[in-house]
Formats: sequence, structure tokens, C-alpha cells
Amino acid sequence: MVKNKKKIVILGSGFSAVECAKKLEREFGNEPEIELVMIGEDNFLLFTPMLPQVASGMIETRHIVFPIRTICKKTKFYEGRIKNIDPYGKLVTLWGTKDKRSISIHYDFLVVALGSETNFFGMADVEKNAYTLKTLNDAVMLRNRIIDMLEQAENETDPILRKSFLNFVVVGGGFAGIETAGELMDLLLDVQKYYPSIQKNDLKVIVLESLGEILPGFNKKLAEFAKKKLSEKGIDIQLNKAVTSFDGNEVTIKSLEQTSNDSTNLSEINSIFTKTMIWTAGITPVNTIKRSMFHTEKGKIVINDFLEVSKFPGVFAIGDCALFIDPITNKPFPSTAQVAEAQAKLAAKNLISLIKNSEKEKFVYHSKGQLAVIGKRTGIATIFGINISGFLAWLIWTNVYLSKIPTFDKKTRVYLDWVIDLFFDRDVSRLNYIKRETEKEYKLLDEVDDVW
Ligand SMILES: Cc1cc2nc3c(=O)[nH]c(=O)nc-3n(C[C@H](O)[C@H](O)[C@H](O)COP(=O)(O)OP(=O)(O)OC[C@H]3O[C@@H](n4cnc5c(N)ncnc54)[C@H](O)[C@@H]3O)c2cc1C
Repeated sequence: MVKNKKKIVILGSGFSAVECAKKLEREFGNEPEIELVMIGEDNFLLFTPMLPQVASGMIETRHIVFPIRTICKKTKFYEGRIKNIDPYGKLVTLWGTKDKRSISIHYDFLVVALGSETNFFGMADVEKNAYTLKTLNDAVMLRNRIIDMLEQAENETDPILRKSFLNFVVVGGGFAGIETAGELMDLLLDVQKYYPSIQKNDLKVIVLESLGEILPGFNKKLAEFAKKKLSEKGIDIQLNKAVTSFDGNEVTIKSLEQTSNDSTNLSEINSIFTKTMIWTAGITPVNTIKRSMFHTEKGKIVINDFLEVSKFPGVFAIGDCALFIDPITNKPFPSTAQVAEAQAKLAAKNLISLIKNSEKEKFVYHSKGQLAVIGKRTGIATIFGINISGFLAWLIWTNVYLSKIPTFDKKTRVYLDWVIDLFFDRDVSRLNYIKRETEKEYKLLDEVDDVW
């Protein structure tokens, strides 16, 4: 065993964690004095930009996940849920379950990359009854739900109930909401022919957005183009509408529209009968961070220019869980994989500098552009300041994201899924899994068993 061995522990197995680990592996992979450790709840990296295509059945479920053991081979991986981070004692503790021991892992340097979870803004009924699209499980559950609703509607004789089966409400007009709405409509239109009693006009996809525009942050003309294309597909986009409740049968909505005397009209205007509401309206950092000893704002860890957590040298926070104010706009950077990866690269670089006693660098971010698909073979893109829409934008989207898939094997599988979708219909088998649990229960063992 090497004396004075230093341990770098990375928390999370998402975009920023994997990018950081890869860079550290290149520097320290064959260095016996440095041990690299990653702890994640899932033993894979999930490629979130393709989640809507998994929910619509265009891409096979396992094609957008990459086992950590195949992409970070020189990092020791622990599969487990983090319960507590003690930055004074330099310990990370994992929850115990009835099947696994609760352990604590010591670190010398720490990278917190725990991402975010869905934010329901305190609406317990929405949390309980809505579908979400943040995890692989969410995508599988959503696809099954959509197929189930078609099966029920096909034989339903009560017209009101039938309508509520065929109304699908997507809440949130950001990336995730818009891409989900486009994919959902494509799926419905593709498989409608298998349900003889359901006509195209019976299928309703409604997007509710509380702002006055969709895709905020995108070039306005491109966002308008997306809105027009989605409307042509039959998607009803309602702006300035905020959801106030959802009991599993009916969504109630408030209008946030400005009235003529310039005061906001907050009266409850209407409701939509639906059995399926998909909530993509916001994210918030995970509870482990919110109840940590780090200084947080709106739940995110406040970091300095070098991406380090104040008061704790050697502790870095990156990605969706970190708060970094863009000095140009004076606003936080958007929660995107692009920002997460850029921060991961610099955190790894600064960690190397810290270990080698050299100068750290400040974080400077240059966006490479933005891309979104809005359904079958149509997209919008801003690349190096140039705005592109339609088929070409979709082609760029496919190429960029294909190049970002970390393994050749999965690149090939995703590519083949897209090609197969050109020639064949989607599958309407409903796989009988159980729905997402709102509260996961972890059986806490009485004491921490060991410090590793
Ligand atoms: C549907 C959808 C579409 C998107 N599309 C795009 C897009 O087109 N372009 C783009 O740039 N961004 C997109 N994003 C956003 C992007 O996914 C995130 O910004 C990015 O994943 C952030 O990276 P991260 O490393 O901070 O977090 P994540 O990638 O979310 O990783 C967080 C990790 O922490 C783990 N974790 C969390 N809590 C615990 C715990 N207590 N114990 C153990 N492990 C834990 C999680 O399992 C996960 O592995 C999309 C997101 C969604 C949901």
C-alpha cells in the first residue's frame, strides 16, 4: 500500500461527474499515490437529451445509458445513495438498506456533482399524480402510460372519460417540455392506426407554460418557428398559464396574462380533464445538498471563481447543483449538460493544480450553441451565432449528440434506432412496470458499520 495516498471522491454519476473523472483518469490513472473514487445512486451515466425519444419509443431504453464501469475504468465505483457529507471530518456517508450496509468513505479532495431533481413548487397533489421526465424510469413509465391510455380509450363508451384518456398535458415550455410534447405527438400519430375507434382529432397534446414564450434563452425567431411547427402538428401551446393543482383527473389552471389595466389577472380560468399530466416545469437540487453544511442559495451550493466551495478548500461543486453567477449577465448559468461538462473540465484541472501546487484557473464559459428537436426530423439550432431551423437543424442535432455518446457500441445502437424509425412503426406493447414512487424509503441501519 502506498503511504500518503490521496483520495479524490466524486459524488454523482451524471454528466459533470463522468467528465471530471475522465479528465482525472488521464492525469492520475496510473499514479499509485492518487485514488479516484466515484459514488452514484445509479451505476450508469444517463444521456438525458434523448430521454424524450425513449419515452416515445423511438430509442430503446438501454441505448441511452452507459455503465460507469465501462467508461471510467480507472475509478473505483460505489453504487449507493449519499446520505450525508461532512466537510469538517472529510467523510461521505451512504444510506444503508436492508440489502446493503451503510458505510462512510473518507476523502482528501471532493467533487460534488449531484445534479438536480424535479421541482413541484410545493404542490403535493402534482407530485403525487404527475408523470415526470428526469430519469430512465420516468421515461419507461411515461411510455407505458401513453399506451395504456390509448388501450383504455379504444373501448371506452363514456365520452368524458374517453376524452380525459386522450388529453395529454405537458407542463413547462422549456427544452424538456417542448421536446417531450413533440415526441409524444409523433408517437400518438404513429400508433393511432392500431386503435380503429380513435381518430387523429381525438388526440390532444396541450403544453402549459407560465411565461409568455416557449424555449426561453433560445433565439426568439427560432422559438417562434418551434411554436409554429408544433401547432401545425396539432399541439396546443398555451402561454401565461400556471397549473395550480392536479388530482389525477383534472388540471386546474390560472391565467397569468396581463389585463388591459396592466395588473396580472390571477383568477382561476379553467381546467382540463386529463389522466396524464407530464411535469417538466422546474428543477431543484437534491435534498442531500439542501441539508448539507455547505453555504447554499435556492438550494444550490455557492462556489467561487475556481468552482471551489467557500470555506472548504479542496471541495469543488459543479453542474446543476452549483450556483455560479455569470459575470456578464449577472444571472446564474442555465442548468445544462454543456455548462456541467465545462465546469467538470475546469474542476478537474484545478484539482490537478491543487495537488501539483500550481496556479488554479477561473471559470469562463463560452456557449457553443443550443439545439432542440421538435419532433420527427425537425429541429432548431444556434451554432456559433448562426440560427438554423427545420431538417438541417435536426441533422445537426443528431450528429452533435451522436458524437457525444461515449461508446461506439451505443452510438451504433442509437443510430440504428433512428434508421429503423424511418421504415417501421413503433411498438405498442405496454411493459407492466410499477409507477414511480413519490418517496423512496431507505431502511436506515442503526449505526454506520464501517469507515472505508
Ligand atoms: C428530459 C431532459 C432533457 C434535457 N436536454 C438537454 C439538452 O438537450 N441539452 C443540455 O445541455 N441539457 C439538457 N438537459 C439538462 C441536463 O441533463 C443537465 O443539465 C445535466 O444532466 C446536469 O449534469 P449534472 O452532472 O449536474 O447532473 P446529472 O447529470 O443529473 O447527474 C447527477 C448525478 O447525481 C446522482 N445523485 C443525485 N443524488 C444522489 C444521491 N443522494 N446519492 C447518490 N447519487 C446521487 C444522480 O443519480 C446522477 O447520477 C436535459 C434534461 C432533461 C431532464
